[in-house]
Amino acid sequence: MRLYNTMTREIDLVETSHPEVARIYACGPTVYRDAHVGNMRTFLVTDLISRTMRYEGMKTIVVQNITDVGHMADDTGLGTVAADKMLAESEKTGKTALEIAQYFEKVFHQDLARLNIYPADYYPKASESIESMVSLITTLIDSGNAYVGSDNSVYFSAESFPSYGALSGNRLDELRPGHKFDADENDSAKRFHADWALWKSAGENRTQLTWETPWGRGFPGWHTECSAMSLDILGENIDIHTGGIDLRFPHHEDERAQSNSAVSPTRGTNHEVVRQWVHAEHLLFESKKMSKSAGNVVLVQDVIDRGYDPLAIRLAFMQHKYRSQMNLTWEVIQSSQELLERWRRKVNQWSQSESQAMDPSVVAEISGYFSADLNTPMAVNAMRKLEKNSEISDGTKFEIFAHLDSLFGLDLVRDVGKDLGESLSVPTEVLGLLEQRNAARAAKDWALSDQLRDQITLLGFSVVDAADGAHVEPITN
Ligand code: AMP
Ligand code: ZN
Repeated sequence: MRLYNTMTREIDLVETSHPEVARIYACGPTVYRDAHVGNMRTFLVTDLISRTMRYEGMKTIVVQNITDVGHMADDTGLGTVAADKMLAESEKTGKTALEIAQYFEKVFHQDLARLNIYPADYYPKASESIESMVSLITTLIDSGNAYVGSDNSVYFSAESFPSYGALSGNRLDELRPGHKFDADENDSAKRFHADWALWKSAGENRTQLTWETPWGRGFPGWHTECSAMSLDILGENIDIHTGGIDLRFPHHEDERAQSNSAVSPTRGTNHEVVRQWVHAEHLLFESKKMSKSAGNVVLVQDVIDRGYDPLAIRLAFMQHKYRSQMNLTWEVIQSSQELLERWRRKVNQWSQSESQAMDPSVVAEISGYFSADLNTPMAVNAMRKLEKNSEISDGTKFEIFAHLDSLFGLDLVRDVGKDLGESLSVPTEVLGLLEQRNAARAAKDWALSDQLRDQITLLGFSVVDAADGAHVEPITN
């Protein structure tokens, strides 16, 4: 597989440090609010990479962190304590940071399942990884890369890492003094304006999410979390590191400096912990970057509430290159829904023809687009061409669509074996509830799953759970 590497600015062949295993780290959500479909587009990139690597015969280990402390907002206007996104939400709702994190984490897993994004192998939480952060910071102090500032926070010395800026192109001598990337940083306590806090001293007003350390009571800097958790679980060779484009600087630049410096006593100063940095471009909704502040946030649940299959979003995303901004609209979702329904209908029809062998050249062409820096728009186009190709038998088309769904992840064979007329007469509302129930079951939320079953029953349908998934049947008596 080849991927664009932000570090080399080239499309590089993915060369894993282990011949059979790809180690992948994905920056995860900050769980103080719902992840929107823009965040989901970024998370989908990791899923597509690991599906492609597995298709190519590799094993993958995917780690995605859950940020539940230390991610500071600079737009809350609530002062130093509440500038932690988790604590701002806690102040607003009267709930504890832990309650907030638990709730949004659950919804996050449910939304991933709804988009057929495979769960990561590990979901470390920042608040449960404090020990490894303290040990990382101690290593960095010992190696001369970090120091305790006059405010008892611990800072990373940007100048101690000569290639600082190589990832993002932000050169140290061009970074202006006084520019704040973190709302609560105290410039007078640092030795140099571009240094950043690895550990932050907690003031008396901060009553939640603080820990006792050799440097006093405090909490971790956001960038520290990802270095500690990735080194901890994946070790000193991480093949692919993913995140949204906004994380390139300062989050990933700082993470690279920390991780490389931490391993330099044993690995030398030239060892790159991360081999490939992959960044997903932003999703726009109706031409503006999707964000809470722009007021144009769309959730997976909103898409379901409008009667769409959440996988229509997955298909919509795949029709655009992950490295380009994409403008999502309800019309785009509608047309992806139509394409998805048409493919499932065709797959169902083709399944009734005699099965025929796959055409290896067609399969190689389409899977090859995934391997070529996730050229999913070309892969979708090739599927459209295959669908319309009158020289290829229906039996072959069925086999290819079914086989390649391990890459597309669109549940293309979902309707196979069902009576088409009957499934089409099921109201959209019932199908939407069934979808939500599938997601609830995938997230092992049995209470919600039962509740959704009851709602479906009230609408006159019973849910039948079969080995190949659940479907509904009209209640006849
Ligand atoms: P957050 O929960 O804010 O830490 O963001 C989670 C992930 O979503 C990060 O990798 C961000 O870079 C990414 N992200 C944030 N906004 C967008 C957007 N509008 N489109 C795509 N990805 C985004
Ligand atoms: Zn991160």
